[in-house]
Amino acid sequence: MLPVGVLDHLPDSVILINAHRGIVWVNRAAKDLFDNPRVGQHLAMSVRHPDILGAVDRAMAGRAVRDLEATLQGTPPRNITVHVERSERDSDGDGIAAIIVVTDMTASRRSEQMRADFVANASHELRSPLSAIIGFLETLANGARHDPDARRRFIDIMLRESRRMTRLIDDLLSLSRVEINEHVRPTGWVRIRRVVDQVAETLAGRARDRDITISCSLPDDPPVVIGDEEQVVQVLQNLVDNAIKYGAFGSCVEIRVESVGRVPGRTSPGVSVMVRDEGDGIPPDMIPRLTERFFRVDEARSRRLGSTGLGLAICKHIINRHRGHLAIESTRGRGSAFTVYLPAHPALAEPGPA
Ligand code: ADP
Repeated sequence: MLPVGVLDHLPDSVILINAHRGIVWVNRAAKDLFDNPRVGQHLAMSVRHPDILGAVDRAMAGRAVRDLEATLQGTPPRNITVHVERSERDSDGDGIAAIIVVTDMTASRRSEQMRADFVANASHELRSPLSAIIGFLETLANGARHDPDARRRFIDIMLRESRRMTRLIDDLLSLSRVEINEHVRPTGWVRIRRVVDQVAETLAGRARDRDITISCSLPDDPPVVIGDEEQVVQVLQNLVDNAIKYGAFGSCVEIRVESVGRVPGRTSPGVSVMVRDEGDGIPPDMIPRLTERFFRVDEARSRRLGSTGLGLAICKHIINRHRGHLAIESTRGRGSAFTVYLPAHPALAEPGPA
């Protein structure tokens, strides 16, 4: 009797074949991965990959077969490893002569690739300010240090580039800390009014530099949110900082807090915090990419503004950790609105203004 019930629920694909390469049994995962394999059918009808069939032949001939890595064509292509084991019991009858186990490695390969890309991108981002600093130091060493104007100018640039590297390293560390904790739901509670006041106060100077007014509107009794106050501040600070950076000179940035019956994609009631600017807006096809690491709409402009391209990626991870939601709306030439939804604490309602 085959342990069918158990094998059918395995995430790996399992195909049992007889000595004539006829399929004796196939589990659910194998039916999804291959071209509809059926009992009684020849293996080659549904598993057409020559390397897999070759590995089966070698195993059936009693030769040692190492696990095989292969790619199954299709959309998307799948990276697999194949393990074939010959049965010693019934190698020439109609019974089980071999078992083929196929593991789908696509997701883990993709995450390995993403990790490698991330390291390459981070190194590239760090190298450009470093190259600039080395270049100016060499110019100074080669005689420019005797020219007071050049010296002052180069030192200013080197300071700016050093600060950019520091910001990058801070954001990279922040991102990795947030990622490590993403699966641990916060247990504290946060008063949104306090967060809004703190962020508006911290960024008042930057807003003034661009002649931007920050206006805040909150209901009298915004619900208390389940969360980590420091991280909620980090999200809002990032969004308001972007709104100031990308908003038009002399315009208005609005922070509006509202109670909502349901956080999008969830059943719990919550709070929405919208940060709206009057900037150039974002092209619609780029909106889904904004939370990717190092993604910038206008590379040159963002670099000039001292951006790292990591702020919204950090926000996304924090919001995920809070089981919240980020919605982005933008109209070219009019501005953008970033709205964060966070689940309300079930037991606590924020008392009105003190
Ligand atoms: P940073 O601002 O450090 O580049 P972010 O991850 O916060 O990194 O933002 C990514 C990109 O999204 C920015 O480079 C910018 O092109 C775009 N962006 C973010 N916020 C706004 C906004 N309010 N208006 C227009 N573009 C924005």
